[in-house]
Amino acid sequence: MMTGAKKDIIDAIGWTPIVKLNKVTTGVDSEIYVKLEYMNPGGSSKDRIGGFIMDRAIAAGKLKPGGTIIEGTSGNTGVGLAMWAAVHGYKCIFVMADKQSVEKVNNLKSFGAKVVVCPTDVEPDDPRSYYSVSKRLAETIPNSYYVNQYDNLWNRETHIATTGPEIFEQTKGDFDVFMAGVGTGGTITGISTYLKTKMPKLTTVGVDVEGSIVAQFARTGDMSGARSYVVEGIGEDFIPENYDFKVIDDWVVVGDKESFLMARALLKQEGIYTGGSGGSAVVGALKYAKTLKEPKKILVILPDSGNRYTSKIFNDEWMMSKGYIDSSFNVIIKDLLV
Ligand code: PMP
Repeated sequence: MMTGAKKDIIDAIGWTPIVKLNKVTTGVDSEIYVKLEYMNPGGSSKDRIGGFIMDRAIAAGKLKPGGTIIEGTSGNTGVGLAMWAAVHGYKCIFVMADKQSVEKVNNLKSFGAKVVVCPTDVEPDDPRSYYSVSKRLAETIPNSYYVNQYDNLWNRETHIATTGPEIFEQTKGDFDVFMAGVGTGGTITGISTYLKTKMPKLTTVGVDVEGSIVAQFARTGDMSGARSYVVEGIGEDFIPENYDFKVIDDWVVVGDKESFLMARALLKQEGIYTGGSGGSAVVGALKYAKTLKEPKKILVILPDSGNRYTSKIFNDEWMMSKGYIDSSFNVIIKDLLV
């Protein structure tokens, strides 16, 4: 084994850098820092849960060699699992909602995984939903394991055991506020659970998306009124088991358009290439910073890479077709061509 080398790609997960934002924060007194989870080898924070959960599932005898991993995924968890499966010799079937970008579907197929696409706008207990289809597949395919990142508590334990300690070691606890977008709740719950054991004064703020019911449920207990939205990876129409609302102190809710414009601004102004949910998290951090009476240091998770969204957020035609930008965005290019 060569000195300094990682033993395999799974060993290369983690220790992602934390970077200060310098331009999109203009006019805000607080300092905002982002942890670039897109620098994980599979391109997202979900690489972490893929390996951690599967190591435990195998140790617990839930899947025998050569078996099939089944998961409902917005794409990133699928890549994390597929990467682990490639190294360890397992098959994968991923069940995705039809709103996810074509890049994510193609990524998973490139790993050799089978991908089943289901309708987005059906209730979770509808037999066509990606939750129901995943469960049914796991029941019918022998030697298969349904990961279920929503209710499998090894998801949040990944972040209690790895991401939380990593952040504390990197920063020595030199920040006041921790913020992350919320999907399964694993990232925010796990990291916050660990950090609060070391940093009793830490405030943790969840970033939810308009149309999701998570922040509303946390504030009022009301789970009704879910609407569809376009940002991928955050927001839910139910409350997964991975949430522990005791470690989430406050909430900010952001919209699709501002999230996408921020993802583009992060690339153009800071050179930081994150996806829509990273844009949401930074918009949330700016909104939260504006409510503070005194400047704080805020650490924000950027879950995945913008290159998963080249057909959407980083495609002017798509952005225009959705009404997120107008045609004046193209004027400069047209002028240059004359
Ligand atoms: N952003 C993206 C792009 C994601 O794929 C996910 C995972 N669903 C999240 C944010 C939210 O992370 P978590 O599920 O741990 O709450």
